[in-house]
Amino acid sequence: MQFRDLKKQYDMLKPDIDNAISNVIEKSEFIMGPAVKKLEDELALYAGTKHCISCGSGTDALILALLALGIKKGDAVFVPDFTFFASAGSVLRTGATPVLIDVDEETYNMDHQKLDAKIQEVIREGILQPRAVITVDLFGLPADYEKLMPVADKYSLKIIEDGAQAFGGRINDKRVCSFGDIGATSFFPAKPLGCFGDGGAVFTDNDRYAEGIRSYRIHGKGENKYDNIRSGFNSRLDTIQAAVLGVKLKAFREYELDAVNKTAKKYSNKLKDLVKVPYVPANYHSAWAQYTICFEDEKKRDNAMETLKRGGIPTMIYYRKPLHFQKALENTYSYNTKDCIKTEKLCQRVLSLPIHPYLSDEDIEKVTSVLIKSINNE
Ligand SMILES: *Cc1c(COP(=O)(O)O)cnc(C)c1O
Repeated sequence: MQFRDLKKQYDMLKPDIDNAISNVIEKSEFIMGPAVKKLEDELALYAGTKHCISCGSGTDALILALLALGIKKGDAVFVPDFTFFASAGSVLRTGATPVLIDVDEETYNMDHQKLDAKIQEVIREGILQPRAVITVDLFGLPADYEKLMPVADKYSLKIIEDGAQAFGGRINDKRVCSFGDIGATSFFPAKPLGCFGDGGAVFTDNDRYAEGIRSYRIHGKGENKYDNIRSGFNSRLDTIQAAVLGVKLKAFREYELDAVNKTAKKYSNKLKDLVKVPYVPANYHSAWAQYTICFEDEKKRDNAMETLKRGGIPTMIYYRKPLHFQKALENTYSYNTKDCIKTEKLCQRVLSLPIHPYLSDEDIEKVTSVLIKSINNE
């Protein structure tokens, strides 16, 4: 059993994918070929934003968003403590300071009250200038925008939505990557919509931000690539990756997203009385980058992980370490011991089970039966 079975997906889509790749090679339009613009148009339409600008990775998508907002040294950008490093690492790259916020125990997403309190603290300290919030739609579940947006508005902060794990997720009919002033996603192979290497995209309704992002991704171009008006860099989505994504987006919309949602439901039905299963608020729809359960303590989590491993079932711990304990973030901002207490607990208790659109009912049965046995034998 695979944690996320990319080979099986390729086997299913092979003729179309092979065809799409060889078309690009035949025409030899490797950089900014027609498949790139076509994909950007499809993605913007799907996410419900005016602009989609593809780029080299999800991390670059975040950096491009930060640059377009003019975020720089001396600025504070608020980021959840419980997320992948890139959510905060992108802020470090711009010279600004990531200020980490604890998450809600139920949704694992940023806690709006703690955000409000920390913004006030930063203002009181008077050292950093609060500028933006990076909301993360962790494990595929959109963050609590209804609560987070008023907090950002109250202090005139911009929202960058890190939708790297949640492309396809939605609240009612509003899709991930359309909630913030700018949205960012990743096409890393194991994400809900992945390509065959690195890739990412930025989304916005704002023409000025879009112009900035398009410029920063190609050497800070002005009129053209040889007219350089900003300190940009090079971050494009290869035409081959765009062609692969064109095929995968179709499968993603037609059945993959439904399939992972069915799998999540089956897991939850079987496990909900034994262990804490993912909480999905009413009208929220997850893209299920991860199906993450939570145990009462670290020992129970580690035991279950070990039993599953012996049963040939791969699991992962997302994440073992709160960001505020990462060495790269040492001495960037000083936290009180209780600031991120929920994140610290979650890191000791969570476990992510295999989930992908091609996971069979037999595999689901195997994962749950081994897990149930392990829990009951405690
Ligand atoms: C994967 C991920 C990223 C970075 O995406 P890459 O394409 O790997 O650079 C950023 N934020 C979150 C939450 C992620 O999971």
